[in-house]
Amino acid sequence: MNREYESLICLCLTGETIEENQEYLRRYRNCIDLVELRLDLLSDSELDRLRGNPGRLGEMLTGVQRLVTCRRLADGGAWSGDERERCRVLGDVLDGPPDWIDLEDDLSDELEIAARERGVGIVRSIHCLDSPPADVPGILDRLSRGGALAKLAVAVSGTDDVRRLVESVAQRAPGTHIVLGMGEYGLMTRLLARRIGSAWTYTSAHGAVQAAPGQVDPRTLVERYGFRRIGPDTALFGVVGDPIAHSRSPEYHNARFQRDNLDAVYLPFRVDDLRPFMSIAHTLPLHGMSVTVPHKSAAAKLADHTDDAVRETGACNTLIREHDSYLGTNTDVPGFLQPLTPYLDAVDGATIVGAGGAARAIAYALVTRGMDVLIVNRTVSRAEALASDMNRAAERIASTQAGVRPGRARAGAIPNSRSDIAGFGSLIVQTTSCGMEPNDECDPIPEYRFDGSEVVYDIVYTPATTTLLERAERAGCRVISGALMFEQQAAVQYDLFRRAYWSFRRSRDNGTRSYDGVRRDIGRAPWSRQSEG
Ligand code: NAP
Repeated sequence: MNREYESLICLCLTGETIEENQEYLRRYRNCIDLVELRLDLLSDSELDRLRGNPGRLGEMLTGVQRLVTCRRLADGGAWSGDERERCRVLGDVLDGPPDWIDLEDDLSDELEIAARERGVGIVRSIHCLDSPPADVPGILDRLSRGGALAKLAVAVSGTDDVRRLVESVAQRAPGTHIVLGMGEYGLMTRLLARRIGSAWTYTSAHGAVQAAPGQVDPRTLVERYGFRRIGPDTALFGVVGDPIAHSRSPEYHNARFQRDNLDAVYLPFRVDDLRPFMSIAHTLPLHGMSVTVPHKSAAAKLADHTDDAVRETGACNTLIREHDSYLGTNTDVPGFLQPLTPYLDAVDGATIVGAGGAARAIAYALVTRGMDVLIVNRTVSRAEALASDMNRAAERIASTQAGVRPGRARAGAIPNSRSDIAGFGSLIVQTTSCGMEPNDECDPIPEYRFDGSEVVYDIVYTPATTTLLERAERAGCRVISGALMFEQQAAVQYDLFRRAYWSFRRSRDNGTRSYDGVRRDIGRAPWSRQSEG
């Protein structure tokens, strides 16, 4: 993908008056390059004033390029009036003159000719409010007739729609189009405008009417998502999940990349289906990914190579790019064990509450350390499946590693009393999402009464102290917060990302494709032995 293009940041002005819009401009002037004045959102009296004196455009919106448009209802705008009147409005404002005018594909060439005579740049646009059209490249070619900037804005309902958009522009000259997916799944097309060759990305002022679904405000784009830092050589990383807005990973990894002065950016990707996202990851490319709910088992299947931890648990939370393939590992395993280390001598059996992706990594971590575990879950059949997977893993380990005695796993229902977990009560590990914001009142073992002897480890990290941990602490238990596990697993993951970054840089600088260091590093990790997968 050709990436030698500087994408601009456009602020959509959605106020009813020019004064209101001036205020939005003042607020964001230092982080934007152009504004789009939405004529369809101006009040009638303000529109009349502007038509009477189009010079107001340049007098009041200063210091940035100015784009004007008058969006119809059918295109997601607010103009419900007569079409000829809309053309007259656009024609009147041309005398401003603006720097750019956005004309829909079906508008006659008259306005375009008038705009060109005044030196105004032309954007030709199509807005698809249901699904991506079949022939995106063909549509972009048609829109760019006569040298216009082609804009295609599409409502996307999932990751496969986004894949189609991203792949459609992979071979196009950058800066000749703007392609964006509207809605949360499409956020990546806005954040990675430069990578997909879009001439600019659209934003809305915080608290203002959003010009289109999925827009963020310019400051968030620049400060949280590092939009200006994404250059042609910037290594991209990210976290994939659904939902993803709560993830603390972007904050953590971006801070570490910046502290280490690496040309790398880490972004959140809301993904409903990992398979098409892997295709996007190859196209961009992404050099590393954190994988979270609900994609850990899909990641284990889609990784090109996996280590023991992933193979035995069927859960992968980290993908690292090597050549054109992805290596899968699971940093939840060492991340979970590290905070537990000071307590390991005091515990002789564990109850794991939950049987999802995180429980798999935790059961594997404990069983491979020789601890017997009882897995209890709301859906008991899932606990049973996990216990039998762990027992199979234990047998494999025992038969291949001389002198190693892995633990055994059993399954059961959510306990009501200490006798329900007899022999497994010295350590209770809570791995369900019950207790995580916004369900922070939820207690996954409400009937169970602590006697104060238990070590209680809740891996939920938002909030850092859950309802369950509070209750355990009050009963005198020693408690471990999921925030510690998060920090540890993220630190291990960051180390892998940093190594992937340097391997990529070395291979690029030397003109070689030697990524061997990354595979060697993953292979060396104590929890990990890699294999083809
Ligand atoms: P997952 O694969 O979706 O599994 C969810 C588990 O929670 C299942 O056992 C499910 O039971 C159970 N569950 C969900 N809602 C419940 C409820 N209302 N009552 C009782 N059980 C409920 O998720 P995951 O990947 O294992 O992640 C689980 C949690 O761990 C999340 O909150 C995640 O943020 C956290 N986590 C933290 C870290 C860290 O670093 N601290 C790392 C990984 C995960 P059923 O099988 O009956 O549906």
